[in-house]
Amino acid sequence: MKKIIIANWKMNPTTPRAALRLMGKVARGLRGIKNVEVILAPPFVFLPILRHTPYAIRHMFKLGAQDVFYEREGAFTGEVAPPQLKASGARMVVIGHSERRAMGETDDAVNKKIKAVLESGMRAVLCVGEKERKASEVFPKVVREELLGGIRKIKKSLLANFIIAYEPVWAISSNARGKADTPKNVYEMAILIRRELYRALGKRAASKIPVLYGGSVDEKNAAEFVAKGAIDGLLVGGASLNAKKFVSLVKAVDKIK
Ligand code: PEP
Repeated sequence: MKKIIIANWKMNPTTPRAALRLMGKVARGLRGIKNVEVILAPPFVFLPILRHTPYAIRHMFKLGAQDVFYEREGAFTGEVAPPQLKASGARMVVIGHSERRAMGETDDAVNKKIKAVLESGMRAVLCVGEKERKASEVFPKVVREELLGGIRKIKKSLLANFIIAYEPVWAISSNARGKADTPKNVYEMAILIRRELYRALGKRAASKIPVLYGGSVDEKNAAEFVAKGAIDGLLVGGASLNAKKFVSLVKAVDKIK
């Protein structure tokens, strides 16, 4: 199976022109990539613009969104519905990112969003991760809660489009002391997350769910995380805004046998 690398551009860049330039540079750098599926998640407003790039560029990536609302339409000022995202070119949505949870997003809202996205036929990426690492906690309680809260009452038939991203909040580069986790810990967490999914969903459904890691991944550490971390790919924030770094990062993962 191909590895998955998601570029979370967050609220960057500032203009459509800069977004097109970044996508173009990444596309030129990644020609010939075989073993990695790259998904770009720009701000909502750039989706329709990026989707109308020349054929060769457009078909190198899938586009994704960084959030969504769970209703299909109606009086929800400022929100964006799954069918609107899909019609704008998104094929995947990141849900429950720690930056959204910090603004008040609950496990219940995350669960509704996951259901809405899966029912609309897009892939849903559930982000889970602890704020701090307590030496006494082998499997942080909050990771279990976010995981079980996110997948509550989701139809097993929809899980083919479901992805987990383990993103310890303390490891995210935009945090003041953000520092990448170690491949050894990511390995252990990926096993514990899979074990929890097995328990909740049964081995058959759970074994097909990719588990990604995110948190200060760059061109230097990406390959080691994928090779030693028992993960199926990466969620990349800061490094995805620098075309040169992001291209090297994806190429390093593409080389892994
Ligand atoms: C993120 O915020 O999802 C993330 C992984 O960011 P960074 O790569 O900058 O740590």
